Order: sequence, then structure tokens, then C-alpha cells
Amino acid sequence: MTRVAVVGAGWAGLSAAASLADHGIPVTVFEASRSLGGRARRVSIDGADLDNGQHMLIGAYRETLALMRKVGADPEKLFLHLPLELRFADGFHLRAPRLPYPLNLLAGLLGARGLSLAQGLAAIRFLARLQGSAFRIEPDRSVAVLLETNGQSGALRRYLWEPLCISALNTSPANASAQVFANVLRDGLTGARANSDLLLPRADLGQLLPEPAAAFITARGGSIELGVAVRTVTRDETAFRLDDRQQRFSHVIIACAPQHASALLGGFPELENARRTIDALQYEPIFTCYLRYPDPVRLPSPMFGLTGPIGQWAFDRGQLSGQWGLLAVVMSASGRHEDLPQQELAGRIHAELKAALPRLPEPLWSRVIGEKRATFSCRPALERPAAVTPVRGLYLAGDYTASDYPGTLEAAVRSGLFAARSIAST
Ligand SMILES: Cc1cc2nc3c(=O)[nH]c(=O)nc-3n(C[C@H](O)[C@H](O)[C@H](O)COP(=O)(O)OP(=O)(O)OC[C@H]3O[C@@H](n4cnc5c(N)ncnc54)[C@H](O)[C@@H]3O)c2cc1C
Repeated sequence: MTRVAVVGAGWAGLSAAASLADHGIPVTVFEASRSLGGRARRVSIDGADLDNGQHMLIGAYRETLALMRKVGADPEKLFLHLPLELRFADGFHLRAPRLPYPLNLLAGLLGARGLSLAQGLAAIRFLARLQGSAFRIEPDRSVAVLLETNGQSGALRRYLWEPLCISALNTSPANASAQVFANVLRDGLTGARANSDLLLPRADLGQLLPEPAAAFITARGGSIELGVAVRTVTRDETAFRLDDRQQRFSHVIIACAPQHASALLGGFPELENARRTIDALQYEPIFTCYLRYPDPVRLPSPMFGLTGPIGQWAFDRGQLSGQWGLLAVVMSASGRHEDLPQQELAGRIHAELKAALPRLPEPLWSRVIGEKRATFSCRPALERPAAVTPVRGLYLAGDYTASDYPGTLEAAVRSGLFAARSIAST
């Protein structure tokens, strides 16, 4: 009889379990921590509900949005949907109007404050060239080289392509895969206008998917065991066992972050290659600095670009979720900020915000959450492990498994759904 164990209750594991439960397949999720959501979870700090890191989605995250609907979480209510808008503290402003694609993009690029007409046209030619080659970059190279060889320089690079690369791939343009970047541009900028919409959470991360998914799973007979760190996965002729549990499983989905998944593959000599691939991955951090100001403090827009040297995007949690005065400033990918003591980093971020908003008062409190291994480093021609392993019945799921997406919620959800559908169809 089919009975599935899912190891890890991040977005990949919960997606897999929700899909299995939806197919009527018995499933048990084992999660090491006491909370749902993994790297995209709610955390409570000094009585305030915050996120482990400020997240945002785009309209092209189709599978995530569809799964949210399935488990009863309404994306229309849970996100602020904004047409693509990049607004920076020093005056650069690109806003794609609510027009059908490609008019939205043409109008946005040609009308952007801070881009000349020649630069707007250069960006359009670049996208047209990518489209002409079906967004295939062969051989893969860095995003920096792709931009250089396509005449993308100056303000185009600084305000458009580089911020998009760092936000989406969490890897600097000098190190990031041009192919994965092209995939993101294909899905996020072309096609329907709604693909490029920015989806900014109006609720904490727990409410977006993890909690409704857990309720969906348990309502269909599945179970979720929190605080259970699985240490070994073994298999005899008939079934899998986790640690020394009596319960046996026909299938196992290992849905941990790569550095934890690797250890669980140790009992299977057939998985030596997959382990080597996982162990060769490098990682990039994401830091989020929360600053709590008096209630009346507002940013000029819910998402506001800083021009550095440290802060990248500031989010106004008041405009998003009613946490007035609370700002979240995101720093993606590696940088010198990683070595600063938290108080100093928060002080520098406040100074950058104040340079943009001179009347900003001192923060009432601040807190930095640094995730050193936020995602894998999305390098050119990177080998990623396949979801289907040579061990029959054993699958990998997670944002790092082979796909054409970078380490994102959508990659995690797709991987979980893929593993579940593979099991359901056997
Ligand atoms: C600060 C930050 C900001 C980000 N911003 C964005 C964003 O704006 N947009 C976006 O799309 N993506 C963003 N990401 C990336 C996104 O959060 C991840 O891609 C996604 O959450 C990965 O999900 P996952 O299920 O693959 O892995 P995880 O979230 O890592 O889930 C794995 C789970 O497995 C559990 N586990 C590990 N070992 C064991 C074990 N032995 N036994 C049982 N359980 C175990 C862990 O506790 C964890 O809950 C961000 C990430 C971070 C950290």
C-alpha cells in the first residue's frame, strides 16, 4: 500500500504533502523544528510577528498561486498586486502601466524616469534578442557577461538588470547564471502582463501557504509531526524506515535544504553522485533588517529601492500588512554587510534610509535576521540533483533540485508537486 513520508515542512515538503493528500494518498510529514515553513516562515520577536526574511513573489509564480488557491489561501487577499514598479530613492522610477503585454513593458521602459530613450530602446532590443533565441543561452555564462555583450550598461544595469538578477537569483551578476536569469525574464517579463506583477505579502509567511496547507493535509487524513529531526533513511526489500520507527513507508520525499538532505542520503551507495552534486553547491546569504519607527512613518511606495551601498529594497509593512512604522530592508547575496555586528548594520541601514527620507526619526528598535544559507548560489551551468533518484521510491524536493528556476518559493513548490505527482502516477 502506498504510504509516503515527507522529511521537511518547508514550502517544498508541504506542497508535496498537500498534493499527496489531495490524491487520497496517506502521508506523514516530519519536521525538525517546531514551526512550519522552513526558510519562509513566521518568526515572533519581542511580541511582533515578523518573517524569517522579507519575501516577495511575482505573478509568474503560477504553481505557488494555484496551490494557495487549492488549500484555501486566497492570493487576491493575501498579496498586494502591483504592476511592475522599480522606484529608487535617487529618483529613478520605472512603472509598467496596466496595459496588455507587450505595451506595458514598452511604455514602462520608454517612459522610465532616469533612462534615456536610447537606453529604453537598448533594453527592448535586448529582450527581443533573447526572445529570438527562445531564451537559450549556450553555452551558459555570467549575467555580467550577458549584459556587457548586449550593450546593457549605465542606468539600465544599475537600476534594472542588476537589481532583478540579485533579487531573483540571490547571486551577484558577476557570478550568476545568464541562462537562469533569461528563464526568469522569459517567465516574469514576457507573456501576459500579470506575470510581471509584484506580489507583496499582506500577511505573514505562515498564513500564505504553510498553515493553510497543513490544515488541508490534516483534514484529508495526513499527519504532521513537528520537532522530529529524521537522522537516517533506510530501506529493506519492501519498504523505507526512518530512524528506528516501526512505521514503514512505500515512498520517501526528502524535502530538506540541501545541506541537510545530503546527510540523509548516506545509507544509499547508489546516491553517491547526488550527494557529491549537493555537497558541491555553494550558498548565498540574505539579510533582513527590521526597523520599527513611530507609527506615522511611511515609505513613498510599499517597496522602495535604496541606492546602497548596503541596503537594496525597503518594504513598508504598514502599507502592506498594517504594521505601521515597521520597515524591512533586504540585502540579498554576499557582501561586506555580512561581517558587520548587527547593531552597526542596523545603524548603517537607518543612515541610508535617512539619506533618502531626511525627516525620518530614530528607530524605536531594530533587529537583523541573517540567513547565511538563504539559497544556493545560482552559478552558470550549475549541476543540480534530479528529483527522481536511482533508489526506487525515494525522491528529492527543494528549491535546489534540478529545474530552470533559481532558489525561490516557486522552485520549492514545483519540486514538491513534481515528487507528489510522480508518486501518484506510479
Ligand atoms: C531571508 C530569505 C529571503 C528570501 N526571499 C525570497 C523571496 O523574496 N522570494 C522567493 O521566491 N524566495 C525567497 N527566498 C527563498 C525561499 O525562502 C526558499 O527558496 C524556500 O523557502 C525553500 O523551501 P524548501 O522547502 O526547499 O526548503 P526549506 O525552507 O529549507 O525547508 C526544509 C525544511 O526541512 C526541515 N528539515 C531539515 N532537516 C530535517 C530533518 N533531518 N528532519 C526533519 N526536518 C528537517 C527544516 O527545518 C525545514 O523546515 C528567501 C529565502 C530567505 C532565507
